Amino acid sequence: VIELVDLCKSYQVGDMEVPILKSIDLSVKKGEFVAIMGPSGSGKSTLMNMIGCLDRPTCGKVVVMGKDVNQLSEVELARLRGFEIGFVFQTFNLVPRLSAIQNVELPTYANKKEGIDGRKRAQELIELVGLQNRMNYKPTELSGGQQQRVAIARALINDPSLILADEPTGNLDSKTGNEIMNIFTDLHDKGRTIIMITHDPELTGYADRVVHLRDGVIGAT
Ligand code: ATP
Ligand code: MG
Repeated sequence: VIELVDLCKSYQVGDMEVPILKSIDLSVKKGEFVAIMGPSGSGKSTLMNMIGCLDRPTCGKVVVMGKDVNQLSEVELARLRGFEIGFVFQTFNLVPRLSAIQNVELPTYANKKEGIDGRKRAQELIELVGLQNRMNYKPTELSGGQQQRVAIARALINDPSLILADEPTGNLDSKTGNEIMNIFTDLHDKGRTIIMITHDPELTGYADRVVHLRDGVIGAT
């Protein structure tokens, strides 16, 4: 479902072009659980942004669900992100003023897959992540692990086949982190493709495959 071919990415900083990713080749098959590891600053989040169509490559090719990102308009990219990909971040990124269930339902206001009842599905997902008795709480009234559960439920609202997680347990203690990992394992068992960035070598045990990134280059696993 993902194919990166000779991908590179540079950022423009002032009048300098700073290369971050260099000649990356990576393919991820449907249903795979891939962990990406690497030191801070090695370009993991940048790589995730490429895979998640949040940004475009400087050179090379990114193919997501059979679609060449270079050939899609901004609108098409937004649709691909909204319908096919679920994002989970280290810092949860919930909307503070909305309740847990409203946060889960929120993406359907912008993009809703046909046939999905946003409210009903939000309710089901809140239950899936075990927060049925917290669904009317605001993010500040929830623990870190509970907030991350809300974020995972939100990522699933449009039933994406691909889940991208950037350090999803980075702000959680190890017990809570393992609970979150169990949710990812269940999602993987149900056939979803998962790509997860992590610093924690222990978490790579959950993955089918580990990809090491160092200075913008993929190394041997
Ligand atoms: P961490 O483990 O700390 O999250 P990372 O591997 O995710 O690190 P990235 O966030 O991909 O690293 O950043 C890689 C490099 O790219 C860093 O040196 C960073 O300063 C640079 N960088 C990231 N985003 C931008 C940007 N928008 N503009 C300029 N430079 C950037
Ligand atoms: Mg990062």
